[in-house]
Amino acid sequence: MPAYVGLGSNLDDPAAQLAMALEALAALPDTRLVALSGRYHNPPMGPQDQPDYLNAVAGLLTRLPAEALLAALQGIEDAQGRRREGPRWGPRTVDLDLLAYGNTRIESDALTLPHPGICSRPFVLVPLAEVAPGLHLPDGQSVAALAAAADATGLRREEP
Ligand code: ATP
Ligand code: CA
Ligand code: CA
Repeated sequence: MPAYVGLGSNLDDPAAQLAMALEALAALPDTRLVALSGRYHNPPMGPQDQPDYLNAVAGLLTRLPAEALLAALQGIEDAQGRRREGPRWGPRTVDLDLLAYGNTRIESDALTLPHPGICSRPFVLVPLAEVAPGLHLPDGQSVAALAAAADATGLRREEP
């Protein structure tokens, strides 16, 4: 199954956090890391008294069920010292959101697919369109079109 993961970090050396998380993604069982966007600097969402974020999107091909993949992502977050107390959208060492898992739609307590933030977040749409320009969400919306229409003020792609 193709799956897309949004990565974000704004604590403890975000570039190193993203690199570590990518290594862990590549090492997941029954999973291949097949695509990676550039890294994007972005002002924080929610509380403004925190450092800017570094964001990226990874493309996976996986045989893990969606729930197992989410659990694996949370395991990687835990391994990198993610703390779950504090305000909503507060600072974090690493955040791994399962953006999409094939065309699956789920709405359970633990897992919503596609991730509900995709359409409203330029820092997700722009790197997602970079790795998957032909991707459509289950409701038919084109990710490339959403990204092109997004207000990317404040979003800055890191020079390679
Ligand atoms: P947001 O989800 O708005 O980006 P956040 O990433 O800060 O906010 P977290 O605290 O990381 O939110 O996660 C809260 C809960 O979201 C998790 O416990 C997880 O079970 C749930 N969740 C539901 N759907 C997803 C998904 N598609 N990807 C990741 N987590 C999800
Ligand atoms: Ca998130
Ligand atoms: Ca999250």
